[in-house]
Amino acid sequence: MAVTSFSTPRLSSSLSSPALQTLRNYRFPVRFLSFSHYTKTLVSGNFFDSLTSPPPLTRHFNTAIRADSTNGAEPPRKYDFDLFTIGAGSGGVRASRYAANFGATTAVCELPFATISSESTGGVGGTCVLRGCVPKKLLVYASKFSHEFEDSHGFGWNYEAEPEHDWSILIANKNAELQRLTGIYKNILNNAGVKLMEGRGKIVDPHTVDVNGKLYTAKNILISVGGRPFIPDIPGSEYAIDSDAALDLPSKPTKIAIIGGGYIALEFAGIFNGLKSGVHVFIRQKKVLRGFDEEVRDFVEEQMSLRGIEFHAEETPQAIVKSSDGSLSLKTNKGTVDGFSHVMFATGRIPNTKNLGLEAVGVKLSKNGAIEVNEYSQTSVPSIWAVGDVTDRINLTPVALMEGGALAKTLFANQPTKPDHSDVPSAVFSQPPIAQVGLTEEQAVKEYGDVDVYTSNFRPLKATLSGLPDRVFMKLIVCAKTNKVIGLHMCGEDSPEIVQGFAVAVKAGLTKADFDTTVGIHPTAAEELVTMRTPTRKVRNTPMEGKTDVKAAAGV
Ligand SMILES: Cc1cc2nc3c(=O)[nH]c(=O)nc-3n(C[C@H](O)[C@H](O)[C@H](O)COP(=O)(O)OP(=O)(O)OC[C@H]3O[C@@H](n4cnc5c(N)ncnc54)[C@H](O)[C@@H]3O)c2cc1C
Repeated sequence: MAVTSFSTPRLSSSLSSPALQTLRNYRFPVRFLSFSHYTKTLVSGNFFDSLTSPPPLTRHFNTAIRADSTNGAEPPRKYDFDLFTIGAGSGGVRASRYAANFGATTAVCELPFATISSESTGGVGGTCVLRGCVPKKLLVYASKFSHEFEDSHGFGWNYEAEPEHDWSILIANKNAELQRLTGIYKNILNNAGVKLMEGRGKIVDPHTVDVNGKLYTAKNILISVGGRPFIPDIPGSEYAIDSDAALDLPSKPTKIAIIGGGYIALEFAGIFNGLKSGVHVFIRQKKVLRGFDEEVRDFVEEQMSLRGIEFHAEETPQAIVKSSDGSLSLKTNKGTVDGFSHVMFATGRIPNTKNLGLEAVGVKLSKNGAIEVNEYSQTSVPSIWAVGDVTDRINLTPVALMEGGALAKTLFANQPTKPDHSDVPSAVFSQPPIAQVGLTEEQAVKEYGDVDVYTSNFRPLKATLSGLPDRVFMKLIVCAKTNKVIGLHMCGEDSPEIVQGFAVAVKAGLTKADFDTTVGIHPTAAEELVTMRTPTRKVRNTPMEGKTDVKAAAGV
């Protein structure tokens, strides 16, 4: 940091911006998804004091002392850092790195590395890199080979013996990759000029963080501590594992019970099924993947069942019993299933907000322990901000990155930026995988009333020679009034790769006519998304009765 920046008044240039003037006068309510009940008005002085002029050319670290705005609202105070971030996962690393690039003096603290997280262990990179997206996808790749081996026979391949899988090689290679990645993340922070501290962060007051007994002051504190898996307290729960442990088991399960019907449960079901473990999935509800499009929910469960996964619908675990031979039995409301080597809970994650000092400083939490924030990721304490899973908005890595980036721009680049949570595409790396963007049919009907639905359910080319029962399902949901494509769903090979591209079209508000004029790439499964011409059904809401009238396309 240039020495001259110590005494630079930081507000005057910000306030000259008409955009900021408007924002400063705007008292916006805090309303977001699950916590619409919480309304709060920003303390404008505190919020806008944080907006800085363009970044200085040089900076230094924890010896930095900043003089802040003297616009009359607050006496000048000196802090060790402009931003102190607790948690170096996706959101924390992104926010800290961008903040440092914008010229802010920045520090981040993170727990020591371990493959399995706890109150005292974590690691730079966070859940995505160490216990989520990355290791999970590596295991998905490993498990997919077995389907390829099956497919290959129809294409003329013969082997003397069935290929065998060595779990210990997979886990050792995966862990070596995690070490490499956590090192890369440390370098990223280092190169950006972010001061990295190993230790547990705890908030002492609105401008002070305690890291292992040492106190650091900061103008802004960012909480990006993510969440952790949660195992419900039932008899025998000490025998159960969570997703952290499932990614790092000493040996491969012979038969596993997976409890939960969400995306993590289905992904692990696919992994262990592909690696030839017996897999049973227990879901409390009738169907898997609550919140996804109904047809996709049915389709994926059917396809996964064809691969040998056994689904137990509306079956809730009540106890886990260990037999003398070491095997586990799962008692449910419907009976007992024996012979499991592992029982895994994938029933949800809870925000890491315990013992962070939040309640004492007045940071408001929702019922499930998530931090409540406004559209700019500001908490109920103006100098404390939160991004990522700990805010329980949309719990995905790219969303945490977006929120972290937006915050850094808001605080340090003179660009107040709200993260945009609309049309966020997402995927489930089940086998077959699912990807989607926009609304489900149910949401679209509720929101728009009249929608045209195009579906396609077909056997992919590869399955013709492999002889396997694999199919692909695709769905486009179009607003009847505007012709805009408002939902796009796919379940089948490569769907996450395909839908990432189509998400641009949906986000840009393109119409079905735009899709129709796009020439397909042949022969692909993806071309089906630009060649669906006749609606499968036209859903029309009858406003008088508020009822939905579904007409077969042919007769409309
Ligand atoms: C099994 C699994 C699979 C997933 N797959 C995908 C996927 O395919 N795609 C996708 O987009 N998302 C996926 N996710 C979700 C994704 O991992 C999260 O949304 C993302 O990591 C959230 O980032 P974050 O920065 O909010 O938190 P995290 O990445 O969890 O980072 C929080 C960090 O804070 C640290 N920390 C906690 N408390 C403290 C403290 N007091 N002091 C210091 N440090 C602390 C933790 O150790 C951790 O490193 C998956 C998650 C799981 C569990």
